[in-house]
Amino acid sequence: MNSLESDPGAEPVESHGRSNFIRDAVIEDLKAGKHDGRVQTRFPPEPNGYLHIGHAKAICLDFGLAAEFGGKCNLRFDDTNPSKEETEYVDSIMDDVRWLGFQWDGLFYASDYFPQLHEWAVQLIKAGKAYVCDLTADEVRRHRGTLTEPGLESPYRNRSVEENLDLFQRMKNGEFPDGSRTLRAKIDMSSPILSMRDPVMYRILHMEHHRTGDQWRIYPMYDYAHGQSDSIEKVTHSICTLEFENNRPLYNWFIEQLGIFPSRQFEFDRLNITYTLLSKRRLLTLVQEGHVKSWDDPRMPTLSGMRRRGYTAEAIRTFCANISVSKTNNTVQLSALEYFLREDLNKRAARVMGVLRPLRVVIDNYPEDLVEEMDAVNNPEDENMGTRLIPFSKVLYIERDDFREDPPKQFFRLSPGREVRLRYGYLITCGAVVKDDNGNILELHCTYDPATRGGKTPDGRKVKSTIHWVSAAHAVDCEVRLYDNLFTKENPNEVEEGQDFTANLNPSSLEVLSGCKVEPSLREAPIGSRYQFERIGYFCVDTDSAPGRLVFNRTVGLRDTWSKIEQRGKK
Ligand code: ATP
Ligand code: MG
Repeated sequence: MNSLESDPGAEPVESHGRSNFIRDAVIEDLKAGKHDGRVQTRFPPEPNGYLHIGHAKAICLDFGLAAEFGGKCNLRFDDTNPSKEETEYVDSIMDDVRWLGFQWDGLFYASDYFPQLHEWAVQLIKAGKAYVCDLTADEVRRHRGTLTEPGLESPYRNRSVEENLDLFQRMKNGEFPDGSRTLRAKIDMSSPILSMRDPVMYRILHMEHHRTGDQWRIYPMYDYAHGQSDSIEKVTHSICTLEFENNRPLYNWFIEQLGIFPSRQFEFDRLNITYTLLSKRRLLTLVQEGHVKSWDDPRMPTLSGMRRRGYTAEAIRTFCANISVSKTNNTVQLSALEYFLREDLNKRAARVMGVLRPLRVVIDNYPEDLVEEMDAVNNPEDENMGTRLIPFSKVLYIERDDFREDPPKQFFRLSPGREVRLRYGYLITCGAVVKDDNGNILELHCTYDPATRGGKTPDGRKVKSTIHWVSAAHAVDCEVRLYDNLFTKENPNEVEEGQDFTANLNPSSLEVLSGCKVEPSLREAPIGSRYQFERIGYFCVDTDSAPGRLVFNRTVGLRDTWSKIEQRGKK
């Protein structure tokens, strides 16, 4: 475990990348002069869904290592399973890799290699290393044995080379129905490694492929396609996740039997994050069953969802550089991801004032028609971002939460008789509270001290609280979408018997607020632009926005000290 995993709030020690065993192996190979000092990696997504933050970890490793050592990284679509793959996914994957900040050297598809893979299969049949098997998938499974028991040899294992060549050709011609036959590697049914027990190389599938159409009636299995694809591209370091560790002997076996470029596979731990599911299949279920609106729903851990929510590519890259790359699976706290997000947004997001749940405030002693332009700093972290003017007038909105008629002990914001500072404005003191017949607060009446313009107190008197506001006459109406974790459990896969992971969905992961008020500088805010609403959090203009209709996503909150005090009080 690294410090981030054990202590979510901890500051990372390094800001750009830590070393890891794969990087060490690359360095060692370079020292030994292997592959003429060449480093070639690849990122090999299957185009069966949108990329998620787990893929970002793999992308940062694949592209990052190549970049660090002057090497190259290919983008290769692992499109060997036509039943789940679509062009929409291919396009989104390219968009997401580019958005993350990487550019591939070669762009390839495993399907480009179908003719070569077929040729090699024929070569293996001729060498007596592969055979056509008529067992059903179920029978193959039953024959495989277990970790403690050897498998059973297929009755078709000793077919002659001629018969195998003939049957394989006819499989290719589409003469047999799906599932009736397979081509299997002839290795060892008693191998202690299950993947070496005569694995299937080809299956019959009468199905359109998104690139090759109906050209092929047989499709290679992942294990038969992957290593050879790496080899064709002369990949020196083939990086994948731990679940492929058991497939490595097979990866090497095909390469050795064919005598082709010796790519080498390295496995690292998959990224897991609390309250988050990182599996394209599961995420597809969420989309298909309507639990979220789309793949880029801002609650999704997809790169497109995170982008729409307001995540920056830099924040994701820094997060990836700071998590461990190891040989054991563990889970990173969601708060660690949010830590890097806040760090990055703090530097780049302009500060603005926005009121999510408005409460009207009338300043009784402020002149009726006066509008003053108040000077405000755009980002205290970055002087270059400059200043802007915010209109101040007699009627304002403040946050409902910033007023309590009967304030608890540690509540220092506005309440009857209390004075607070309006950020960049004046000090105001609360007078009358106007209510409707049901006791709901309609508006507050306050007075201001004209000597405190800009929030200054010439007499040095203390006010304990500064609150944000917008001028009612100048405010821009908008919708704000607040997001909470998509799942209620740290591990969303943990379910009671008979339930599936959707039982752990958080019913209040989305809250939509309408009638929110933001300062007029945001009237033309472009889609995707990011802001810090002072005292509330980071927000980003959603793609649903249109001229005259602003929609904001809350990217992430600021650390909210008051709600923590209040929760502590309840305990
Ligand atoms: P999923 O189960 O989400 O579909 P996958 O592993 O099947 O994931 P691929 O498209 O095959 O998805 O993945 C492309 C690359 O990304 C692979 O090298 C894979 O190991 C890596 N990858 C996928 N998920 C993660 C993750 N959670 N953490 C790190 N790497 C991942
Ligand atoms: Mg996969």
